[in-house]
Amino acid sequence: MDKIAILCSGGDVSGMNPALKRFVEYAYAKGMQPFFVYNGYEGLIDDTIQEAHYEDVAGIITRGGTKIRSARSERFKEASHRAIAAKNLQNRGITKLIVLGGDGSFRGMERFHNETGISFCGIPATIDNDINGTDYCLGVDTALNVIKNAIDSIRDTASSFRRAFVIETMGRNCGYLALVSAITSGAEVCLIPEIPINIHEYKGCFESQIRKGRDYFIAIVSEALQNSQEIAQWFQEELHFESRVSILGHIQRGGNPSVYDRLMAYQFVTYGIDTLLEGNNNSVVCYTKSHFNFKSIAEVALNTYRLDEELLNLGRKQFAPSHCQR
Ligand code: ADP
Repeated sequence: MDKIAILCSGGDVSGMNPALKRFVEYAYAKGMQPFFVYNGYEGLIDDTIQEAHYEDVAGIITRGGTKIRSARSERFKEASHRAIAAKNLQNRGITKLIVLGGDGSFRGMERFHNETGISFCGIPATIDNDINGTDYCLGVDTALNVIKNAIDSIRDTASSFRRAFVIETMGRNCGYLALVSAITSGAEVCLIPEIPINIHEYKGCFESQIRKGRDYFIAIVSEALQNSQEIAQWFQEELHFESRVSILGHIQRGGNPSVYDRLMAYQFVTYGIDTLLEGNNNSVVCYTKSHFNFKSIAEVALNTYRLDEELLNLGRKQFAPSHCQR
């Protein structure tokens, strides 16, 4: 019987548990024996590898995070520890591995594959949506819904109190979460690295809006810019509008997996297992222009992600100070 393992590496996302459920069920359906590696690459080295059963995944589809935990591992960057990890898999006869993670995790896996020949398939999973070669990474939709709910709630209080709220979203160096959240929550301001805007350019327009009765502002700011406090101060000092900063932080990583993430988890894992069975032994399942496809790790991990140009263009128009409605 073919043996296949799965692990989660790097930042966890909501959608990993639905992926684990599909993994166990589809592995059995394909006549394989499924294994969980607990604690990411750390677990490969420490041999926390266990056979997975249907009971292990019962009821987990509704839960954020990952039942088998995730980790970062400095040790896995050393060839000597990767050799121990390979031994642990080989001792159990495991020849195939699925890794849910980001481009860093895939880079590690490429080395591991080249050294050991263990077949590997990567599934992009990060709320930052910043992996090159795929339009979608597992966990993004749930994160966007968490942000949407937070902004909707903040809007309620902002309007009651005549305040400007500066809401900081995650995304590392990528403005995707901030841009989509700003568009879909009707924010007045969206500040991301990909669209440079000088906040001072809004001054005349916002003053005019205030004169006409505007009683709150919502500004979405990407964590990459590290200027949320400055922006809040600008509202206070230049517009004499009481302001608050709300850093959403790790709530964006959690929450009940959305329908879309459950469906994407199901499909990513199905395609991942299928491709391993077809003998494709070193690839990442990508989702581009509404289709699944497979790319080499080099294509995915060695290039930098660039936010979709069409979406950026819409964002540039929507949030350009020159388009601000007085
Ligand atoms: P992500 O996968 O989300 O990009 P990281 O960049 O933190 O997250 O990488 C996750 C883990 O992948 C690291 O802790 C390390 O164990 C492994 N890794 C990353 N880069 C390499 C590399 N060049 N060689 C070996 N392992 C790596």
